[in-house]
Order: sequence, then C-alpha cells, then structure tokens
Amino acid sequence: MNHDETESGLKVVDAFDLDDELRSLLKPGEMLRDEQGRRHRLPRYFYEIPSHEIALATRLTPHFALNEFVLNDLRETARLQQWPRYIPCAVRILAFYLEQFRGAAGASVHIAVNGGYRSPSHKLSQDASLHMWGTAVDIYRIGSTILKSKESIEKYNEIAEDVSDEIHVLPYGHDVDKNADDHVHLDLGYITLVPREISDDRMEQPQEHRPRFAFEERRRKERRAAVAAAENE
Ligand SMILES: [Zn+2]
Repeated sequence: MNHDETESGLKVVDAFDLDDELRSLLKPGEMLRDEQGRRHRLPRYFYEIPSHEIALATRLTPHFALNEFVLNDLRETARLQQWPRYIPCAVRILAFYLEQFRGAAGASVHIAVNGGYRSPSHKLSQDASLHMWGTAVDIYRIGSTILKSKESIEKYNEIAEDVSDEIHVLPYGHDVDKNADDHVHLDLGYITLVPREISDDRMEQPQEHRPRFAFEERRRKERRAAVAAAENE
C-alpha cells in the first residue's frame, strides 16, 4: 500500500443534487431535534462511494477503511444499501480521532455493523442521533476484549476522553438513549463539513438552480505529479 491511498479520491456531492428518492432518505439540511429539544441541521455534503471494493480500498487513516463506517444491516433502507452509497464528509474527522483513540488504546478497534453512519431513514435512527452526522461510532470489540462489562466500557471511555476534549462518550448504563451497556459509543458532536471546493453562494441558494455536479477526483498523487512536472520544466 502506498501513502496515496489515505488521500480520498472520492467525489463530493451536494445531496440537494441527488435524485428525489435519495434526497428524501438523506434529508440534507433538514432540522431535527435532539432529546433536549435543541434543533440541529443534517449534513448536506457527502462522499459518494461507487462500490464495495472502493469502500474497502479507501483508507481514511492507516487503520480505518471507509467500509467500516458504512456497514449496515437490513434496518437501513434498501436504496441506501445500493451502490453508490453516501456518507457525510465529516466522517474523515471521525476517522482521524479514531486513529488517535486506537493508538491510545493500543489495540485494534472494531466498528460494529450499524455502528458507523446511519441515515435519518435507518430504523435505529431516533431524534438527532449523531450517527446521522457521520460523527459517531459504536465499538463492540477492542483487541480481543468484547465490550460488555462496566469495567471494560469505563476503561475505554476514559481512554477516549483523554485523547481529546472533542470526544464524547456514553456512560455505562442500561438506558438505551443515554447509556451503553454492550459497546463504547464515541462521537464528536454535530459537526458538518463543508468541503473547501464549495462556495458559500451555493450554500445560500441551493434549491433555485440545481446543476448536477460532483467534484473531480482529487488525488494527491496527481497533484504531486503536476508539481513535479512544473518543477522539471
Ligand atoms: Zn452510538
């Protein structure tokens, strides 16, 4: 594997440009309430993942492939299990923090099926779950430890909180919405990422004109090649 594989060559799409069905499932820009009644706006910019092979091959960080964040079972709606699939761009920030967490934990971190991104149409999606923002993961196993005990969950929660103040965990407990008793849940809050290619003009007038667009692949390799070519002239 070479270094370029950590650089995403994925297309960024504005979910307002997707077809009606996808828009109705991904709900870009819609407001949802959390359990406290605070409103949060759902993400609008997504990576488009063309195939399972590419999901497996695309490493967001050295130890986390994109595939791990999009593993879903039949509780995700059928259309969103077809390729291409979509995941909020903020997943890259999540992967960065997970990589730090893995280093601190000193063992491999296994994201569960349904443990990464869950669309607003997923059957487990309630209120404004951070999993809909692509900024949360559920981890059921670290190294060889299955996270079922209070002791193991609290141990890794503490390690995660020590990695960064940005990381939020759910305390051990049995209230499904507020606690976790068979996994470690990590999240970064309601982060939405607006890729640098996006103009704020587009942010302000999305619905009036909707040209289909998706950014060309940006590969570090190609950029480097261009720089090298220029230097050789
Ligand atoms: Zn969770």
